[in-house]
Amino acid sequence: TARAKIPTLIIEKLLPGGTMLLTDRIENYPGFPESITGPQLSQKMEQHYREFGGEILTDEVIDIEVKEKNVKLRSGNCIRGKVIVIATGGRKRKLGVEGEERLKGKGVSYCAVCDGAFFKEKMVAVVGGGFSALEEALFLTRFAKICYLIHRRDNFRAKGHLVDKVLSNQKIKPVLSSTVEKIEGTDKVENIVIRNRKDGKLYDLKVDGIFISIGQIPNTEFLKGKIEMDENGYIITDEKMETSIPGIFAVGDVRKKSLYQIITACGEGATAGFFAEKLLNHT
Ligand code: NAP
Repeated sequence: TARAKIPTLIIEKLLPGGTMLLTDRIENYPGFPESITGPQLSQKMEQHYREFGGEILTDEVIDIEVKEKNVKLRSGNCIRGKVIVIATGGRKRKLGVEGEERLKGKGVSYCAVCDGAFFKEKMVAVVGGGFSALEEALFLTRFAKICYLIHRRDNFRAKGHLVDKVLSNQKIKPVLSSTVEKIEGTDKVENIVIRNRKDGKLYDLKVDGIFISIGQIPNTEFLKGKIEMDENGYIITDEKMETSIPGIFAVGDVRKKSLYQIITACGEGATAGFFAEKLLNHT
């Protein structure tokens, strides 16, 4: 939209890039055969956007009056857009077990790229069986002595090349058909209690860190009751990326869809931008 000379403003709560900033190596975004880190790709996208005159405002959207397209900000300011594109992504899901909240930042982490370096030659565990959990486990093998990969079923949700890489890594020990029941430790994580789902038995795993990677929750609370969503809070759009409210679009991880990747988010952004421009030129 910036390139189409439509005045464009991104409202960003923290740093442009979102979940991408927490990703180490991105191997499935075209044009970077040698791979690129999430922070590097975010920076390139921001630079590209600014070169076409796009602006970024650091603030948080706390409410939207959908009919009027008034966006209310944490700072108390209010902005009106002719078109709004929601790209608020998701945040990490919590496990909800005893010890998780108390030991957060003391061995309980949701981001290997952020905290992995604290676990040099230590024992760690990753919980989850999706792409993110497997990527976290592989990243942690750079530092940790052993990385247990705890998944509640007996086969991973992630498929293909990544699974082969994980299974051939000597430092990763899959712990399948198992759930974490409790995280223990006085001032930092010392032990986790595991339940084997096949025989129901409990046992201890001595670890210094546990990385929880069990999926995302869409950041859509501020839109509840205003825009059509599915039962999990993902925004429903049509093929133009337009939501149930004309002139409001949604793209990326906040949308109900089948493939959550950077490449699909970018394509959705292009689609929303294209139809936003059409809408603006016809009103
Ligand atoms: P995900 O694909 O939804 O996987 C979540 C994993 O956590 C699943 O294995 C699930 O188990 C497990 N899980 C969920 N709740 C749990 C609980 N309470 N206790 C124990 N385990 C639990 O999430 P993700 O890996 O964060 O990925 C999110 C999306 O981004 C996905 O669509 C993924 O494909 C995409 N992604 C893609 C890439 C890539 O293309 N390289 C990288 C990262 C993410 P079950 O399998 O039993 O349900």
